[in-house]
Amino acid sequence: MAEWDHRVDLVVVGSGAAAMAAGIRARDLGLDVLLVEKGDVYGGSSAMSGGVCWVGNNPHMRKYGIADSDEETLTYLRHITRGETADEQLRTYVVESKRMLAYLAERTRLTFDALDAYTDYYPEAPGGKMGGRSMEPDPFDGSLLGEDFARLRRPATSALILGKFMITARMAKRFIILNFAGLVLMLWQMVKFALRAPKRARFGGRDTYLTNGNALVGRLRLSLKDRAVPLWLETPAEELVLEGGRVVGLVVKKDGKPFRIAARCGVVLAAGGFDRNLAMREKYGPKPASVAWTAGAETNTGDGIAMGMKLGGALALMDEAWWTPVTQLPGMTSGWVLVVEKSLPGNIFVNGNGERFTNEAAPYVDVVVAMYEDQKKTGNSVPGWMVFDAGYRKNYIAGPVGPGKAMPDSRLSRRLRDRFLVKAPTLAALAEKIRVPADRLAATVERFNGFARAGKDGDFGRGDSASDRYYGDERVSPNPCLLPIAKAPFYAIPVFPGDLGTKGGLRTDTHARVLDEGGRVIAGLYAAGNTTASIMGRSYPGAGGTVGPALCFGFLGAEAAAKDAAGARTHAAA
Ligand SMILES: Cc1cc2nc3c(=O)[nH]c(=O)nc-3n(C[C@H](O)[C@H](O)[C@H](O)COP(=O)(O)OP(=O)(O)OC[C@H]3O[C@@H](n4cnc5c(N)ncnc54)[C@H](O)[C@@H]3O)c2cc1C
Repeated sequence: MAEWDHRVDLVVVGSGAAAMAAGIRARDLGLDVLLVEKGDVYGGSSAMSGGVCWVGNNPHMRKYGIADSDEETLTYLRHITRGETADEQLRTYVVESKRMLAYLAERTRLTFDALDAYTDYYPEAPGGKMGGRSMEPDPFDGSLLGEDFARLRRPATSALILGKFMITARMAKRFIILNFAGLVLMLWQMVKFALRAPKRARFGGRDTYLTNGNALVGRLRLSLKDRAVPLWLETPAEELVLEGGRVVGLVVKKDGKPFRIAARCGVVLAAGGFDRNLAMREKYGPKPASVAWTAGAETNTGDGIAMGMKLGGALALMDEAWWTPVTQLPGMTSGWVLVVEKSLPGNIFVNGNGERFTNEAAPYVDVVVAMYEDQKKTGNSVPGWMVFDAGYRKNYIAGPVGPGKAMPDSRLSRRLRDRFLVKAPTLAALAEKIRVPADRLAATVERFNGFARAGKDGDFGRGDSASDRYYGDERVSPNPCLLPIAKAPFYAIPVFPGDLGTKGGLRTDTHARVLDEGGRVIAGLYAAGNTTASIMGRSYPGAGGTVGPALCFGFLGAEAAAKDAAGARTHAAA
């Protein structure tokens, strides 16, 4: 037998939501557990995310008077996954996500509150809800992490207000419409930010008030610290060690050298997706593919999937991702998500032919699916363009460009003004600048304006669903997602088929055990999060539909590892 450099019970690869949930549960079950992280910061995409977690029939819903049941949740999940996910997986999630949630609330620092008005993404579908299943983590004081705060991955730039501080998802909804109340609230946040200056000074200028994914990961990290669970940074996992048909360890790179870790109970792969692996994206995903349109962590290069595949792990959903339309800033290597903009009234998305191709306000996954379908048909959908007028520009955000009433064109940085935001005095001049046929764009806008005046999008039904309207402007009636594009000057920003991470990967059973092509368990190997084929299939139930399963199956994987190892010992002794 090869020599080991270190011995533990369980090794967890990664440090996002899935990995940390596994680490916490394993430690509480008495296992000596170690997390290894490739990057020099921890938290992965989970730290950059909204931190929202989707759990049906969760206890917080009651507080807001929202009725739900396991049956309704299951009906909804069955409906949206359209037969792509085995019923037992869905049932497991419905039951176990609640157990995981209760456990974390009781035993760890991770607590949530329901977003009572955040609708499921298909609220009108059987079992769908108008709010409450999506929950956000309670804000967190980063200073509690002490020196470990510095290594918490920073949030996505798009999540920072004025590039400086974070706000909750509940508050973000109120900021979308910068009316008087919104402005007062914004000013209050700025005052609170100013008051935190002394605390910031202790942490290199980084603000300590954390929300969203930073609160999620901060809370999980502190829970790991409470348990003295080690997390080794800059320690990429490279190879699984198989002995007698069972995963018994992991080779990592430590201080630049191979380092062999024995793992009595096995290995949990929670290394995220292949967001940033161009070869894998080109091999498996739709075309065109790019690693610059994803908003996922740059260290997510499919390593966990590759390691599992090497041992015969079966794959599923490899052509899928948590799609979202994004825009791209000059010089940036990440997508800037356009989740809010697409619902706001007074814009449309068009392809290179100047034609609309989708309900822009639809769930973000569907918008990108439609974009790729249009690309197949027209060959001219990537990049697309978000086209809007002076009215939209004045009132609403457009990627990194804040509402004109707070950030007029004259105050935009040169980078944004000259190299990002396209502006023209007429629609025809705009068409010329973005190289779409002017007559087609004019016809598209004229038709859309007719729909906007009537309050009914006759082509794509924009604003028909309550989910479309969540980020609409409630002051606009009858349809908060529709206003004519009529007032000069006219503007455009590019739109690309981006994502929040990939969601195809290793096939697992209801206990997060990795399966081979024959559906057999690979002993000692577990996986969760975006390293696995998502139980959500090709769909997205609502905000938090990726973090929820990542936490849940990380948690279940740790339980299975502890139980399987105990079983294997008994078996060996018999
Ligand atoms: C801007 C943004 C907003 C989002 N908002 C939400 C939201 O509100 N709700 C929601 O449900 N989802 C959201 N998502 C998606 C969500 O963040 C991810 O799907 C989820 O966090 C994935 O969790 P994970 O644990 O699988 O992976 P991650 O959190 O990405 O963690 C994987 C970790 O593994 C590490 N790793 C990779 N390879 C190795 C290796 N060889 N050795 C060791 N470590 C390795 C990575 O460095 C990384 O730290 C958002 C994503 C983004 C980018």
